Amino acid sequence: MTDYSAGVFKEAFQLALKYQSELPNRACRPQTTYHEMRDLFSEPLPEAGFNDRETIRLLGSVGDQGLMQMRHPRFFGWVLGASHPVGIAADWLATAWGQNSAYHASPTTAALEEVAASWILELLDLPRHATVGFATGATVGNFVALAAARGATLRKHNWDPDADGLFGAPEVHVFIGDDAHTSVFSALQYIGFGHDRVIRVETDSQGRMKPDDLERKVGDRSGPMIIIAQAGQINTGAFDPFAEIAKIAESAGAWLHVDGAFGLWARANPRLKALTEAIEQADSWVTDGHKWLQTPFDTGYVIVKDADAHKRAMTTWASFLPMHQEGDRIASSLVPELSRRARGVATWAIVKSLGRKGVAEMVGRHCEVARRMAARLATEKDVHVLNEVVLNQVIVEFGAADESLESRREQTQAVIDTVVNSGTCFVGGARWRDRWVMRISVISQNTSVEDGNIAVDAMIKAWRQVRGSSSVD
Ligand SMILES: *Cc1c(COP(=O)(O)O)cnc(C)c1O
Repeated sequence: MTDYSAGVFKEAFQLALKYQSELPNRACRPQTTYHEMRDLFSEPLPEAGFNDRETIRLLGSVGDQGLMQMRHPRFFGWVLGASHPVGIAADWLATAWGQNSAYHASPTTAALEEVAASWILELLDLPRHATVGFATGATVGNFVALAAARGATLRKHNWDPDADGLFGAPEVHVFIGDDAHTSVFSALQYIGFGHDRVIRVETDSQGRMKPDDLERKVGDRSGPMIIIAQAGQINTGAFDPFAEIAKIAESAGAWLHVDGAFGLWARANPRLKALTEAIEQADSWVTDGHKWLQTPFDTGYVIVKDADAHKRAMTTWASFLPMHQEGDRIASSLVPELSRRARGVATWAIVKSLGRKGVAEMVGRHCEVARRMAARLATEKDVHVLNEVVLNQVIVEFGAADESLESRREQTQAVIDTVVNSGTCFVGGARWRDRWVMRISVISQNTSVEDGNIAVDAMIKAWRQVRGSSSVD
């Protein structure tokens, strides 16, 4: 390694270190808009090259302005993890090693991914013989699991879609809760099922699938079936009633898939595990690393009980790939990609450094912070927490109950804007049924009870400001 390379690495390292040290004191929101950043970075394709070190320096100085502080302990936007430092460091090393993790060509990364996969199964207490693919996230994870489900269900009806495609295949009935995550519909689109060709199952006030409606709709049909359940609804954090759903799936011979992008991690905490009761009876599960486990982006895990269905859906044929032995884990037969980043390295490092106890503590703490934030917000006049806070998600609407939906929507958005502009914390808005809500996701590694209190102070202050100005109008 020349000194010259060392200079580039050091430059990036110094910039990352500076960011890390400034992070707690930064405003959570970006300093600039997307359009401003586009203007700052736009230039004609460079004809001549530019100094490497200066390139990294420029990236740091310009790029720094447009960063959303997703790693900040008071970042409550969407449902995002905070990229654990040990994961970042491991990821750097994996990148610096330059390992293509398609296959066993890199013994180190192949082995680390295999070990990490077994740890994930243990943390989530899912069948230890299940296969685990390291995908980019839950969207692609859902795609992989549903592709496996497509093959397994259709082969039972004498059709092999992995070999022969879908033209002429028997119809597969897909049942999905009305409050499923949008990415599952994308996954259905990718596997040729279409995002609209589904049988929607009614949900209750928390977004949980109603088993009696599922049972009735399944009972009306025959042939290959897939039921898609959810652990952790994106707004309410609610869990589908898996025991009842699993029973229906079993008697119908349906494949049961669970999207548990963040909710599946409830299983890592003994006090929360009961929320997922009977989930282990499903056929496949998806969860993210880059949400609750705090891996750097991007990492998701797709877990399938039927290894054969999993591998047949994602098989790669290539004679140039190194030979493997019977029983070896072939990473590229579990995800769509062949060449890819060594995603298992960061997962291995984070689980190694946190341990089972560390993961359980973090998940439990986040749920406790969410519960306390909701309890404090609910004591404020005309502030309504709309969900049962069972996990880490809190949805809040601002405005008096006798005001119009539109007026409450405006006030809620005004509170969100005021809070975000203050820089104290970051929250987003979301639609829940006919309401517009402020959605709080407590899922950032270091978020403490104190952070929750500071954020709630800012929210209440913003609400009083909005209330004050609207009563003047
Ligand atoms: C975030 C999320 C997804 C999508 O995950 P990505 O990692 O963004 O692809 C799917 N389902 C649920 C419930 C989610 O919260």
